[in-house]
Amino acid sequence: MSDGRAAKRVAKFIKPLRVEPGSTVDLTEDFDPRYRAGVKKREGVELLRTGVSLLADHQARLAAQDTYGVLLCLQAIDAGGKDGTIRHVMSGVNPQGVRVSGFKVPSAEELDHDYLWRYAQRLPSRGEIGIFNRSHYEEVLVVRVHPENLDRQKLPEEAKGPDVWQRRYREINDWERYLTDNGIKVVKVFLNLSKEEQRLRFLKRIDRPEKNWKFSAADVRERERWDDYQEAFSEMLSATSTPWAPWYVVPADRKWFARICAAAVLAHTLIGIDPQYPSLDGQARKELLAARRGLEAEAPGAKHRTD
Ligand code: AMP
Ligand code: MG
Repeated sequence: MSDGRAAKRVAKFIKPLRVEPGSTVDLTEDFDPRYRAGVKKREGVELLRTGVSLLADHQARLAAQDTYGVLLCLQAIDAGGKDGTIRHVMSGVNPQGVRVSGFKVPSAEELDHDYLWRYAQRLPSRGEIGIFNRSHYEEVLVVRVHPENLDRQKLPEEAKGPDVWQRRYREINDWERYLTDNGIKVVKVFLNLSKEEQRLRFLKRIDRPEKNWKFSAADVRERERWDDYQEAFSEMLSATSTPWAPWYVVPADRKWFARICAAAVLAHTLIGIDPQYPSLDGQARKELLAARRGLEAEAPGAKHRTD
């Protein structure tokens, strides 16, 4: 498939997942966790392979060009499939060019700073793909559903008013705009899981010893707040899907389909950047050719090995 055709196909594929900036999202009404765009699992394997090789090629060019960075933010409810998505989507890329950062309950040092500080520490550099496994969006999700987290953030009184969430949305949008304007593109994927599928995945985590480590009793307590989370997700998606960093809601009940979607969203961004290998100017090319002549002169007539 030509690059142009692949780009069009990817754009068409992810369009239904995109949250139009300015729209109001009701997650339970507007997005189906079981949607699969008519794709069969067998075709999905091939699609993911195509996506992964497209990512590998673009990542190599992104690194060589050293001008843009890409930040992929992954958000989901517990058991949404973030870890597996990262493993599969990045399976083909050079690990040197990728940095994965997970965010858990903030440390004492982190709480001593403004709330975006710890995320800013982990941003990708130019040429890198950074992945946030959970992200600054926790600051308007878990912190909102459990306001005691906000109390721990040692904020001054005037920063804790009832408008705190609206303010955070604006600050996050501004921060992402700043990053985008400076060459760090922000890509946001929300893995949308149904309550029933979460129940089944929790059961697996309890029943299979090799999955036990992924489960804690706290996960069940969080599940009791399902509706509050859905509401916080909906508000977050409505307020922070922007023209410079739109949200994509990925149906997550089928892991294989979620991975294709996440790969496609990331690929779409990289295709948009269209990174190029740097081309040498006249002087640099002359130097290169001179070096070549020198190397050849060391062993005249020798054959070049390519392995
Ligand atoms: P896991 O991803 O399963 O290892 O869990 C990480 C935990 O850290 C989750 O329970 C999150 O809700 C929690 N967490 C992440 N970010 C924050 C935050 N900013 N404030 C409070 N808790 C957080
Ligand atoms: Mg967990």
